[in-house]
Parts: sequence; structure tokens; C-alpha cells
Amino acid sequence: MSLYLQLDTGWISRGLLKRKSNYSPVIVFETSDPKRLHQLKEYLLRQPDARYDYYFVYDQWEGLGRLVDSSSGPQFEPFRKRVGSSPLAQRVGTREEGGIQLQFFKSALKEVDAQLKSWRACFIIQNLSENREHETGLCSALRAWAIDPAVITKGSTVILVTADAERVLDDYTRELTVIVSVDPSRRDERSHIVRTTARELEVPLEDAGVEEIVMGTAGLSLHQMESVLLESYFRTQQFDLRVIKDLKSELVKKSGVLEVQEPTLGFGDIGGYDVIKGFIHKYVINVLRYADRARRYALPLPKGILFFGPPGTGKSLFATALASEVQLPFIHLVTENIYSKWLGESGQKMKNAIALAEKMSPAVVFVDEIDRFGRRGVATDSAGEETRRVFSQFLEWLGRPDREAIIVGTTNVPDQLDEAFLRTGRFDYKIPFLYPGEAARQDILLVHLGLKAGTSRRRPPLAIPEDGLRQFLAEEVVPLTANFSGAELEELVTRAKRQAFDRGAEGLEEIDFLRAARTFRVDHRHRTGVIETCLAQARRYTDDQGFLDAVEEEMGVKV
Ligand code: ATP
Repeated sequence: MSLYLQLDTGWISRGLLKRKSNYSPVIVFETSDPKRLHQLKEYLLRQPDARYDYYFVYDQWEGLGRLVDSSSGPQFEPFRKRVGSSPLAQRVGTREEGGIQLQFFKSALKEVDAQLKSWRACFIIQNLSENREHETGLCSALRAWAIDPAVITKGSTVILVTADAERVLDDYTRELTVIVSVDPSRRDERSHIVRTTARELEVPLEDAGVEEIVMGTAGLSLHQMESVLLESYFRTQQFDLRVIKDLKSELVKKSGVLEVQEPTLGFGDIGGYDVIKGFIHKYVINVLRYADRARRYALPLPKGILFFGPPGTGKSLFATALASEVQLPFIHLVTENIYSKWLGESGQKMKNAIALAEKMSPAVVFVDEIDRFGRRGVATDSAGEETRRVFSQFLEWLGRPDREAIIVGTTNVPDQLDEAFLRTGRFDYKIPFLYPGEAARQDILLVHLGLKAGTSRRRPPLAIPEDGLRQFLAEEVVPLTANFSGAELEELVTRAKRQAFDRGAEGLEEIDFLRAARTFRVDHRHRTGVIETCLAQARRYTDDQGFLDAVEEEMGVKV
């Protein structure tokens, strides 16, 4: 049996079952995977319960053809209509020996229409262009066939294979058809493909290795799955997990909206913010780590966390660290790429991104500047309508009870988020990020100097003993950095390194830090305003008083 028939064919039978129960003779399979299309054709040609008298295929590039079986799999044979040399005949197709080939969609539809009503025929429409040029002809033909008694009684079936039914068909047509969305790949399918390909290429594999590849390739289609395995083999003569993950990241990046990143920084790389670390450890990391135990308590797993606060306060850093602590993939939803100048594309991109992120989950999905689409917007024109669509899709995802992705959103302006986002149940926790207090600032400087235990940051050469430096920083530098953000403290360390480098010194000394700190300009008047706003927001959005008190205490802003 061919590989494809050994994989999951449940999606095909689901569609055909609906056909059998006469729900509709028109089935739409939502997939863009050429391997799924191949699988469908093999199934239709070879499964006894799915046999038809004739098979027709319309392909954007090839025109109308017949589908025939061969030892190398399903084959496309151009369909030739026997006609005279009438001007009409010449207009509808290209001349070929023995008849004309039907290249134009409308003439193909007309031809097949007669066939569907005369025999038990199956008509597959594939590779339609995305630019909707077929829309009118396609929708009206599908609608007509969906309710045509001749088509129904003959047992004929029309199958449209497309990436997105909503994009090609209008609401009314979709109502009259059976729509089956096809999984890119199931876990057992990926495992089967890994084992079969390994056997064929004689790649030795341990069971544990297979499992890691299966997990690491979640969300890929069958076609992509095969491609990454082959490419990894050609590059390294084995199935190298690193290479496979990199190739997957490249493929996902092509979606334009998602990026898979390897979280390299952990909690050891975060200075200060012990209260938030403790909170996240207790309520997020431990619950995810001991998920089975949590389930015994009927404790829901955390699925949405909102980090809010001024720029540079470590919100993104915490999101990465969280993913690395729970050892989940880290997927970045690049919000700035969602909005497209092409009408209808933004909603489409969001839909695809959500589907792909879910397939790759459990994963931490990081949504920075969530306020970009966390506003309801007023739909006065089509662009506004598009913004609304993206907003509703995201909101719906956020509220979906079966969501597998753990969404970590960040914003500098939580008060601009729509109320619906902030409602209980959407985000489990809303965590404020204020500017670091004294102890935290000291700790952040130590992180960036590679002096904090557990950090992966490199230590620059020092011309003074470590203990002396710690004391000097605490007494002389930290007091100069009130209202600095974590990002600015990182920058301060860079500037100190630059000073030492310019001096041609052996290593960093006190003078380098003092020069860097004294010349670092921060607009304190403006910052005071930002802090006030931020505190007010923290009090408004955080519903855990004990936690809020501890955060304010740690940041030195408790009144
Ligand atoms: P924005 O709102 O602008 O996206 P953010 O709050 O997400 O900012 P990050 O991008 O996480 O801020 O921080 C920028 C950089 O500042 C980090 O990559 C990190 O190097 C440094 N940084 C911020 N906070 C800390 C911290 N607590 N400890 C160590 N480094 C920090």
C-alpha cells in the first residue's frame, strides 16, 4: 500500500460520508498541501468504497483532464473534446490532435456538467488561483450542482481543494457545501513519515529521537515534513533535530506572521523582579510543569498572560524566559506584519497564523504590542472592517476553551485595549512591569556584567576585584540610575565597556561606570509622569492585592 494510504484518511471519509448521506454532492477540502491532494486522489482511485465511473480534474495550469491510475500514482491526462472546426469550438480551447483541450474554466465547467449528470462521476477542482478570477463561475456552478437532482441521483461528487474556503466561496455557496478542514499533519502521521523515510534512507534512529522530531515538527504539512527530513539528510546524512528545527523556523517564517524562536535566555538572565518571578513560577511554570497534578485538582492550566508597562522593562525578556523554563517552543506572532495593504489579506493572515500556532502548540505564543489589534476600531470603511475582523478573530481565539497555545501579550498602553480583552477569563493574569527599584537595578547591572549566578551573559575583563565592583556599583552607580529601565541599564553597561575600550584599558574600572552613568540622560520629569500612569494602571488591572503590594514594595514605589 502506498505511504499516503497508510496515513490518516479520516478527513476524506468524513467528507465522503456527508456526500453519501446526501447532505451535499459538493465537498470542499481545505488544504494547500500537494501531498494531501495526492492522498485524496489515491484514495478516490483505489479505495473500493470510493470508486467512481469517471474522474475529472480541473487545474489552473493544465486545464481539464481525466484522472487515471498508474503504477507511479494518479496521473493527469488532458481531456480532449471531439468537436468540429466551428469558431465557437476554437474559442473555448486549444487545438490538439483528436480534439480540443479545455483550458478555460468556464468551458471546463460546462463540459463536466454534462458528465456529472450522465454517470457516477467525480470532479476535482484544484490549484485555483487566489485572485478570485474564477469566483463568479465557480460559485454559481457549485451552487447549481449542490442542489441538482440529476447530480445527486447519479451519485456524482464535486470536490474543491483550496487553502481557504472563505476566500474562494461566498457565504451562500459555503452553506450548500460540505467543508472539511484538513489537519496539516497528525502526530502519528509524522511519526510514520519519520520512520518510513529513515528506513528508506537507512538513517539509524532511536525511538526517543523519533519522538523529538515528531514534537519538533508539529504544525508542518506532510509535504513540508518530507522536505525538512530530506534536506536534513542531504546536509548532515542524518535527521539532525537542530537542522530540522531551523528548517521548520524558515518555513513558518514564510507565513510572514509567525516566527519560531529558540528561547536562549532563562530566569537566570533576569535581574531583580523577584516578586514577578516568584508569581510566574508559582502560578504558571509549576502548573504547566506538573500539569497532571493540576488536572487532578481540576485546576485550569494558564493560557493567557498580559504583561504591561513602559518600554524596556523586560516584558519580552520574561516571555522568552517563561518559554525556556517550561521548555516549550516560543512562537512570535509578528503583529506589525498582520496588516496588509491587500484587502482581505489581513484577516486571512491572522486566520492562518492562529491555525498554525495551534498546530504547533503547546507553545508560548508571544504577541508584542498586542494593542495593535486589541482595539475594536470603528468600521467605517473596508480597512476598518478588516481591522475589526482581525480583532474579532484574535478575541475569539483568546476566549476559545480548547486553545492549546499559551498567549503572552505585552503592551505599553493597556488602557487602550478594548474592554473585551481585559475581561476576566481572557487573560489569566495581568502583570505590571514598573521601573526597577534599587536592588533590582543592581541585579540587572550584575546580569549584564556576567556577574550574577545563573546568567548566560559573558563577563567582560575587569580591572578591579569582583567584590569591590559590586560594592562600588551599589554605592556609587545605582543611586545615579533612578527611573532607568532594564534596557537602559544594559545600555549603561555597554557604554562603560566602550569607555574602557576607548581608554585602551586592561579591563573595566570605576571611572568607566561613573562616566557612563553621569552622561546618561533620562528625562526625569517625563518619567515621573510615566510612573504615575503606570502605577494607576497597575492598581486598575491587577486583581491580586498581595501581589500588587509586593511589586510596589520591590520597585520602591509603595506609598
Ligand atoms: P518594549 O515594551 O519596548 O517591547 P520590553 O518591556 O519588552 O520593552 P525587553 O525587550 O524585554 O523590554 O527589554 C529589552 C532588553 O533590556 C532585554 O533584552 C534585556 O537585555 C534588558 N532588560 C530589561 N529588563 C531586564 C532585567 N530585568 N534583567 C536583565 N535585563 C533586562
